[in-house]
Amino acid sequence: MPADDVLLEIEDLRTHFLLDDGVVCAVDGVDLRVRRGETLAIVGESGCGKSVMARSILRLVDPPGQIEGGRITLHRQDGPVELVGADKRLLRQVRWRDIAMVFQEPMASLSLVHTIGSQIVEAVRLHENVGKAEARERAIDMLERVGIPKPRHRVDAYPFELSGGMRQRAMIAMALSCRPSLLIADEPTTALDVTTQAQILELLRDLQAEFGMAIMLITHDLGVAAQVADRMAVMYLGRVVEYGAAEQVLAAPRHPYAQALLRSMPRLGRASRTRLAAIRGMVPPPFARPDGCTFHPRCDSAMAGRCDTVTPSSVVVGDREVSCLLYDDEQQEREERR
Ligand code: SF4
Repeated sequence: MPADDVLLEIEDLRTHFLLDDGVVCAVDGVDLRVRRGETLAIVGESGCGKSVMARSILRLVDPPGQIEGGRITLHRQDGPVELVGADKRLLRQVRWRDIAMVFQEPMASLSLVHTIGSQIVEAVRLHENVGKAEARERAIDMLERVGIPKPRHRVDAYPFELSGGMRQRAMIAMALSCRPSLLIADEPTTALDVTTQAQILELLRDLQAEFGMAIMLITHDLGVAAQVADRMAVMYLGRVVEYGAAEQVLAAPRHPYAQALLRSMPRLGRASRTRLAAIRGMVPPPFARPDGCTFHPRCDSAMAGRCDTVTPSSVVVGDREVSCLLYDDEQQEREERR
C-alpha cells in the first residue's frame, strides 16, 4: 500500500521503440513516486529517457514506441486508477482534469488556427459541465493569474501573436484551467531567455502554492531543478539511478553518475578559471546498451568482472534509493548486523 500522500506511483515502467534495426529501451524499468503537492525534478542528460517516461504517463508516446510493461497508478481522492492499459474514455478524463502537461515548445500543444481563449474554453468544457460564457470567464481569469497583461483582450489572440514567454504562460493557463492534481512540465523553460525562465519558474511555484498541485519537472538543467525541486530523480539510460530529497541529492550525491553530473554543473563561488569536469565518454548508442550496469564504461568506480555483468537493483541507502553495486555490500552488511 502506498503512503497516503502518494499521488502517482510508477512501477517497473518499460517503454520501448521497436525499430527495423532493433529495440531501443528508452524507459527500462522505472520506479518512482510523486507525492501530493510536491515538486519532483527528473534530471539527466539528453536521451536518458526522461521525456519518454513523462509522455508514457499520459500515453502520449507515438509509434513505434509502446509501453511494454509496468504499472502507473494515479491515486485519486475517490480511489486508484491504473493508466497502463486504461481505455480511451478514462484517458480522456485523466488528461487535463487530473494530469496536465506543458512542453518546451508551446506550439506543440497550441493550435495555430484557434485563439488562446477558444482553446482554453474547449479544454474546460470537455471536462466540466459549464456553459461557454462561464468557461470564457475562467479562461480570462487563468490568463490573468499567469500574468498575461490585458487578459480580456489577449483571450482573443492567436498563439503567433504572442511572444515566446507569453505563449508559455498561455500554455500553462490552458494546462491549469481544469485544476489538475499533477502538472508535468517537460523542459518548460529551456527555449526561453534567463529572465523569462526565472519568471516562469516563479509563476509555477506560485500557482503550485495556490492550487496545491504536484509538479513533475523534466529538466537537463540541474540549476533549474535546484531552484524548485523538493525531491529529485536522476535518470541514466532509461533507469532511475538515484532518488531522494533534492537538497540531499544535490549536497551529497551517492551514485557515481549523479556525482559526475553535479561536478559538471557550474556553481557560484567557484574560481572563474576553474574547468568544469566533463563526464568521461559518451552516452552509448541506442543499440549498443552495455551489459551489467549501463554506466560502467564511463564510471570511475567500476569494479571489473562485477559492474560489467551484474545489473544493479535499487537499494535504500540512508535517506534515498540508489542503483549501484557499491551499495549492495553496504546494505548486506547492515542486514547481517540486524
Ligand atoms: Fe559504477 Fe559499478 Fe556503481 Fe555502475 S554499479 S555506477 S559501474 S560502481
